[in-house]
Amino acid sequence: METILVTGGAGFIGSAVVRQLVRDGKRVINFDKLTYAGNPESLKVIENATNHRLVEGDILDSELVLNLLREEDVDGIMHLAAESHVDRSIDGPGAFVETNVVGTFRLLDAALEYWRGLEGDKKSNFRFHHISTDEVFGDLDFDDTLFTEDTPYAPSSPYSASKAASDHFVRAWHETYGLPVVLSNCSNNYGPYHFPEKLIPLVILNALDGKQLPVYGTGENVRDWLYVEDHARALIAVLTTGDLGESYNIGGNQERTNLQVVEAICDALDERRPLEGEKSRRELITFVTDRPGHDRRYAIDASKIERELGWAPQESFESGLAKTIDWYLDNEWWWGPIRSGKYGGERLGESKPG
Ligand code: NAD
Repeated sequence: METILVTGGAGFIGSAVVRQLVRDGKRVINFDKLTYAGNPESLKVIENATNHRLVEGDILDSELVLNLLREEDVDGIMHLAAESHVDRSIDGPGAFVETNVVGTFRLLDAALEYWRGLEGDKKSNFRFHHISTDEVFGDLDFDDTLFTEDTPYAPSSPYSASKAASDHFVRAWHETYGLPVVLSNCSNNYGPYHFPEKLIPLVILNALDGKQLPVYGTGENVRDWLYVEDHARALIAVLTTGDLGESYNIGGNQERTNLQVVEAICDALDERRPLEGEKSRRELITFVTDRPGHDRRYAIDASKIERELGWAPQESFESGLAKTIDWYLDNEWWWGPIRSGKYGGERLGESKPG
């Protein structure tokens, strides 16, 4: 597979995928609407690469997408474009339905027409990879078994409902029209270039400034954390070696409560940049009213992708978090302009982009 169209490739996970693909020598057509979450600065390290082209556009525009697929002679699509923030989906679900549901439908339409026009190996090797979240499985009890690929869908938030709908459309395009698809559902990601409305970057930057660290409820909600570079490697494995029509759960097997995450960040920053008078940053933690419909626990059984595609995460939560904190300390040029604008850290966004 030589030429890959990545939607949402200026976002957090998309840009990690694009940086890896470009380093691997693939030609990448990066199709992104550049919403508040899409940042071309996340692609600065590959700005001189001749095998990367950033095209500004909306996945709702199927004609534009179809023309681009033909013009660039694309071999596969990785679909990451989405509205991804749970809190925003509670405040304004319409944009989530538009982009995540209708946008995915329009993209499928363009992909199907393009694929039908292909011939020979080009047609049989084509893949549409839909990237989704573990949040489609809904709320897990503390003593429940982990989410597998067969766990029934039970989304709780407008975000996860829109992602669940998009997953169903992708499967339907495979079953009904034969479009060659693969799907993946992943747990919470963290790492460099993460927009500072999400839990980990927000807490790092607030804690750095000695600001309050609001935690939803009692901080007992559990998430399984995966370092974004590990996710990007998994996605490339699913695209290139996954079985058609199959979905793969991706996770780090690193469950932590939100409070544990926030405390780990406080302790790491106290070590690296002590506050005046050696005050512990844990004192900055304040508990705030819980988010409505807040799922208690998500946790992924990733044994299928490990067994069948030979993928395994390389980072533990501790090693990935250390890398992430160091990256934020070293890269104020990236987050400074974002922080000084609209997103001043006045509220705690949960890292709930699926
Ligand atoms: P993100 O919000 O950082 O990036 C989304 C990107 O999509 C942005 O660059 C944005 O400009 C672009 N976009 C939005 N609407 C668009 C449209 N209509 N047309 C074209 N581009 C558009 O999101 P992310 O965290 O990188 O997540 C990427 C994907 O991975 C999403 O589909 C999300 O559901 C899924 N996912 C995320 C996580 C996570 O923890 N972040 C976990 C599992 C799955």
